[in-house]
Amino acid sequence: MKYLNEETAGAGAEGSRRNQHRRIYLDYAATTPVYPEVLEAMLPYLSGLDGCFGNPSSLYAEGKQAQAALEQARQVLARAVGASPLEIVFCSGGTEAIATVMGGMAQAVLNGQGRKPRARHVLCAAFEHHAVLDNCRALRRRGFEVELLRPRRDGHIHVSDLEAALRSDTLMVTVSLAQNELGCVMPVADLATAAHKQGAYFFTDAVQGLGKLPINLADLGVDAAAFSAHKLGGPKGAGAFFLRSDLPFLAEQLGGGQERGRRSGTQNVAGAVGFAQAAKLHSPSALAREAQRLAALRDDLMAGLLALSNRIRASVPISAGDVHGHLPGHVHVLVEGIDSQTLVLHLDEAGIAVSGGAACSAASLKPSHVLTAIGIAPKLAHGALRITMGANTTPEHGQRLLEALDNLLN
Ligand code: PLP
Repeated sequence: MKYLNEETAGAGAEGSRRNQHRRIYLDYAATTPVYPEVLEAMLPYLSGLDGCFGNPSSLYAEGKQAQAALEQARQVLARAVGASPLEIVFCSGGTEAIATVMGGMAQAVLNGQGRKPRARHVLCAAFEHHAVLDNCRALRRRGFEVELLRPRRDGHIHVSDLEAALRSDTLMVTVSLAQNELGCVMPVADLATAAHKQGAYFFTDAVQGLGKLPINLADLGVDAAAFSAHKLGGPKGAGAFFLRSDLPFLAEQLGGGQERGRRSGTQNVAGAVGFAQAAKLHSPSALAREAQRLAALRDDLMAGLLALSNRIRASVPISAGDVHGHLPGHVHVLVEGIDSQTLVLHLDEAGIAVSGGAACSAASLKPSHVLTAIGIAPKLAHGALRITMGANTTPEHGQRLLEALDNLLN
């Protein structure tokens, strides 16, 4: 497939005719292409060039080389998120990170560890990703009382709502850093402070935040966090979690005791190296520059969508230029009188990839739990459209999307 990108955009009349046939990818929240620098960093560990294929647990030279690469990747990732390398555990992605943190913590507490060994109350934002919600269901089956924290209509979890829901027996609060459908960024530092006042631990699913927002875990004050490489130009099947060293944790995946016993299984060295390289590319200065560019694209696209038809409305309010309360490249709208699937398939035919919600629930015809959680009527929620922009997105992509929607709606 040929993609429309910066190189081909604006290349005269012939170029623009050629571009009509190139596909446009506007679903960066679902996944991103692997960046060339990431692939380059990974290649030796995939091809085994110069003996780079060793098992990092082996004692001989090939093993030591793999181990050195893994530890170097851990340091780079730790620095990128403001953590100590000892607190970073590599795994296969966001879903595994979330399951490992939540399950391992529950297991430890059930075994009498931590500062609240008898606490069984868990608070979870009602619009969390299914990876978190399904693990909350698993906690219920193990005797925990899980209460869902309702977000407000503006797409945010408010600190005062968390304060009102916290109890003396609250063990853990889990709220994502950035909501994956709406793009709203949660006030995680303040939420964690409120949780800590009640002695509760705070876990954040930061999968949609890394690579889009500056993250400093020490400043955020969270006790655990989950990350995934493929959302920021890294490979699929690579991720990591942060575990503060004093967090109660008993690993449930048992085996060779890799990752200091917190995640058994031979590490994906190439994946970890690629993940670290992707994190490095999103330095604070690069992030700030890209956030300004994407927020301008987002605001222009939103204005264009609202002007296109009175059947289109923004799902949540976004202030122009906002790069702190809302993800810079993230647009979510509701289209009245048409369902998400029709919208996605029509745009696909026009050569444009977008989402009707989260990629993993895209096949479901049920209105998204995220939209119902913020109080959007099911009838409206059926016409959800998520457009997420990234490194290769240009203003022309937004124009092509508007033209394709204009053809469908007007
Ligand atoms: N959490 C959030 C907020 C996500 O958006 C995703 C992926 O879409 C995940 C978790 C799961 O991550 P992974 O695909 O790496 O398992």
